[in-house]
Amino acid sequence: MLELNAQLVHMGQRAADKQAALAMLGAVLEGDGLVAAGYLAGLQAREAQGSTYLGQGIAIPHGTPDTRHLVRHTGVRLMHFPEGVAWGDGQVVYLAIAIAAKSDEHLRLLQLLTRALGDGDMADALRRADSPDAVLRLLGGAPQALLLDAQLVGLDVAAEDFDELTLLAARRLKKAGCVVPGFAAALHDGEALPLGEGLWWLHSDECVVRPGLAFVTPQRELSHAGQPVRGLFCLARQGDAHDAMLARLGDLLVDGRAAELVRATSCRSVLEALGGELPVDWPSLRVPLANPHGLHARPAQVLMLLARDFSGEIRVRIADEGGAPVSIRSLSKLLSLGARRGQVLEFFAEPEIAEDALAAVRRAVEDGLGEAVEPLPEHPEPIAAEAEQGEPAAPRAPEAGSRLQAVAASPGIASGPAYLQVVRRFEFAERGESPEVESQRLDDARQAISAEIDVLVERTRVTAIRDIFVTHQALLEDPELADEVQALLIEGASAEAAWSQVIERAASQQEALRDALLAERAADLRDIGRRVLAYLCGDLGAVVPERPYILVMDEVGPSDVARLDRERVAGILTARGGATSHSAIIARALGIPALVGAGEAVLALAPDTILLLDGDRGELMIAPSAESLAEAERQRARRRRRAEQAEARRHEAALTRDGHAVEVCANLGDTAGTSAALELGAEGVGLLRTEFVFMDNPQAPDQATQESEYRSVIDALGGRPLVVRTLDVGGDKPLPYWPVPEEENPFLGVRGIRLTLQRPQILRTQLRALLVAAAGRPLRIMFPMVGQVDEWRQARDLTLELCAELGGAHEVQLGIMVEVPSAALLAPVLAREVDFFSIGTNDLTQYALAIDRGHPTLSAQADGLHPAVLQLIDMTVRAAHANGKWVGVCGELAADAQAVPLLVGLGVDELSVSARSIPLVKARVREIDLPLARELASAALALGSASEVRESVARALPEVN
Ligand code: PEP
Ligand code: MG
Repeated sequence: MLELNAQLVHMGQRAADKQAALAMLGAVLEGDGLVAAGYLAGLQAREAQGSTYLGQGIAIPHGTPDTRHLVRHTGVRLMHFPEGVAWGDGQVVYLAIAIAAKSDEHLRLLQLLTRALGDGDMADALRRADSPDAVLRLLGGAPQALLLDAQLVGLDVAAEDFDELTLLAARRLKKAGCVVPGFAAALHDGEALPLGEGLWWLHSDECVVRPGLAFVTPQRELSHAGQPVRGLFCLARQGDAHDAMLARLGDLLVDGRAAELVRATSCRSVLEALGGELPVDWPSLRVPLANPHGLHARPAQVLMLLARDFSGEIRVRIADEGGAPVSIRSLSKLLSLGARRGQVLEFFAEPEIAEDALAAVRRAVEDGLGEAVEPLPEHPEPIAAEAEQGEPAAPRAPEAGSRLQAVAASPGIASGPAYLQVVRRFEFAERGESPEVESQRLDDARQAISAEIDVLVERTRVTAIRDIFVTHQALLEDPELADEVQALLIEGASAEAAWSQVIERAASQQEALRDALLAERAADLRDIGRRVLAYLCGDLGAVVPERPYILVMDEVGPSDVARLDRERVAGILTARGGATSHSAIIARALGIPALVGAGEAVLALAPDTILLLDGDRGELMIAPSAESLAEAERQRARRRRRAEQAEARRHEAALTRDGHAVEVCANLGDTAGTSAALELGAEGVGLLRTEFVFMDNPQAPDQATQESEYRSVIDALGGRPLVVRTLDVGGDKPLPYWPVPEEENPFLGVRGIRLTLQRPQILRTQLRALLVAAAGRPLRIMFPMVGQVDEWRQARDLTLELCAELGGAHEVQLGIMVEVPSAALLAPVLAREVDFFSIGTNDLTQYALAIDRGHPTLSAQADGLHPAVLQLIDMTVRAAHANGKWVGVCGELAADAQAVPLLVGLGVDELSVSARSIPLVKARVREIDLPLARELASAALALGSASEVRESVARALPEVN
């Protein structure tokens, strides 16, 4: 979605007239590369068709469909004209928002913008705005009007007590989009105020999205604090939006008219009394919108002009969304609907004009509101969710003897018959017996599952698994989820329906946040949701086979894996999922070989098909021959022997057969693992990912907190080398206390050094903490995601400044991570200035091959042994050595047995890997002859694919044992 930010706003502009302003806007759009030459003619033509004045001193100039082909990138630019520009019809524009849009990506922005305009007088405030931020604040922060309409009024609702009545009122506010989960709990904590005559008042400003007032009356009189309860107001409070309504209510009570509210039998009378939005009971018409880009400015304007032909009022809303209809006389309100092609518009017209007006509206909408429209399909394509429920053509099972490549999620070789576990669909009634009965059933189910989890927590010795179950317990007891479920039960839902609906909604909300960690939480939520639902439906699960089998599933929930019997599950194979999912983590922790993301075809495998999976190489064999199975068995034994021997020599140096030393260090994700890494044979730390210090804290950690973390690693290393990477967050890894605008391509957005250079204070504190913690001891610092020479220079200068400022001697080497192809391509320039390079092959591979490193189906192809990646490594090493600098590799590739000889052959000086891989990496180095490795590496550079490279290594240098 398009974002507004300060860089897009040009302040203090002056234009003699509208044409001059358009010329300036056209020039900015063109100068910024959003449009090609000629777009100005489109802006002018559009104004000639009708003014783009939106209201409140704002105009939104944009091109015509004829000039859409001149748009290179969708975007907007804002120009502030403090002296105003006459825009025709007596309108004066203080802010022009020029839009270059290829399709309808800008519609949502317009919708937000026009909603934000509100009803106050913004034009003058805009005129006086003195900075881009002030303009943005006005656009984003205009006070919203209090919502008070029919959906917020509930008369004679069934409630057992005051608490239940409160919940029902909160639920209405939630449904109307005024509040988010947590509001009901906040109300609960507040003290209710009696207004007399049995009316009560409660309010909260917590979890409020927009101000709204709900009013509910109970079916039978209740009592609270010894007083009668006949009606309850719940205010979702935001600013002073409720002032006018409150004054009106006060007058009503003073005039002794409270009984009108208490005894009201229609919403209309309540809304009339309080001055709310009255429901329209005028004749109406429903008509689908076929405009390709929805109800954007031009068709909306046609509708607005049509209203002028009638003396009465015409209103419209989106049929599915309910809500109060808006007047079609207001362009900004029409745009604020954000109506899209295919949505049905519902028009209402005052009875006196209804016949003619609705007929005219129908004609106008069907004729495309001034645009050429393609008719809508008679049977619209099912939306994704429906399509999923249908019976899509099942993919064919892979053939016997075939080999598939999947994502290696947990190492080891496993074989056995396939045992397919497909996600169960539960059948249940939507309506329940009574809120009490359903509530009790749900409590029983939750308690039973909670007890099961307790047993699992007790039984497991693996911390990672225990942590996940502790999360599950917390979700099960989450008061906000409970609040929402309870509200549905009160409305008559069954325990199953209420529970599954709330869980699904919460999981979807988490996913929508586009954060990998929160997406994992969504998987946890669904997992725990399924288990409670299964209990409620009396589904005890399928009978698990007795003999060791390969578990085949679509996607495995963490608890599915953790409940597995390690003795019977030889391996795990999933159709979807990435190597970083919780399930993969658990499989690794349990030592169960696993492949994920093998594709849907594996779900079509016949039960008991023999499978052979290699969790190191990501390979799957379907119905392998007896010979392949025997070979796999031999290999498994060889790997075990190899691991034992490697472990025995873990503290020895890693020297090739001809005596060339390669440093083998550990990658650390926290400081606590330092001594364990040394115990596993680490010669130092090649990559300390410092994100943990920032993620573990609710706010940016101060210098002292960081110092103590860094000091503990330096102390534990006792003089061995330490390479610390400065904070690498942003994009898909946001910090809760450091909001960054949502980006369409976070991996290509503001992350790593780009982000910390934008907040030099954070970088400064981190560098200072590092330098003070080192206290003159040797320290290597590197900067992540460097793609430009200038980024490196800024980061270096900042560090040197701090060294000077702190005084004393600092033994610091400064380097960069080579993760962006441009850094590798510029290595000859950078190598003259840096002290070292550390190649982050995880990111370098994703950027060189344009494959998201966590992609559930493509990441298997993101192989760092692709010759294109090897070329980039080769360029980096050559440039570094030509300038007397050293090079490490700290991506996962450094631990790959087939990659090690090639990296050494390319001249890499240091390999930094996860601690548990250290013994095997050292063992692999000991098998290498440097001249042969060099020959292999240079031959690999001339090959065409990663698999050819892998084959060449497997032929020339098979692993010994
Ligand atoms: C890399 O990209 O290879 C790397 C080591 O950094 P990270 O995995 O932390 O992004
Ligand atoms: Mg990286």
